[in-house]
Amino acid sequence: MTDCLFCKIVSGDVPAKIVRESAGALAFRDINPQAPTHVLVIPRDHHPTVAELAASDAGLLAEVVREAHQVAVDEGIAESGYRVVFNTGPQAGQTVFHVHAHVLGGRGLNWPPG
Ligand code: 5GP
Ligand code: ZN
Repeated sequence: MTDCLFCKIVSGDVPAKIVRESAGALAFRDINPQAPTHVLVIPRDHHPTVAELAASDAGLLAEVVREAHQVAVDEGIAESGYRVVFNTGPQAGQTVFHVHAHVLGGRGLNWPPG
């Protein structure tokens, strides 16, 4: 999609601090981090929400989640604990409609989130 911010990160038209790459997914640091580790994991293909990705390519969703765990391993937070969040829809705070997993960790995380 030409006017999608995260498609432009996939194509290299918008720069990002990339931390991991796999065949189907890309992981990069959030521009406005909310925790010591705050990385976004996205599929290279455009899917608006996690629900649509699950319906159309469940294998790719699994790759995104595997990569999210590998980010946590690379960042040294897999043992201490981390959170994977897919904000879905406006009331949940989704602002970019190219599905992305937030990987958050490196500090205590409140539950339930606000
Ligand atoms: P959402 O609110 O849709 O769940 O998450 C979108 C995330 O994308 C936000 O945490 C926001 O900080 C991040 N973000 C927005 N624009 C950019 C950008 O240009 N580069 C990077 N790396 N992150 C961005
Ligand atoms: Zn996109």
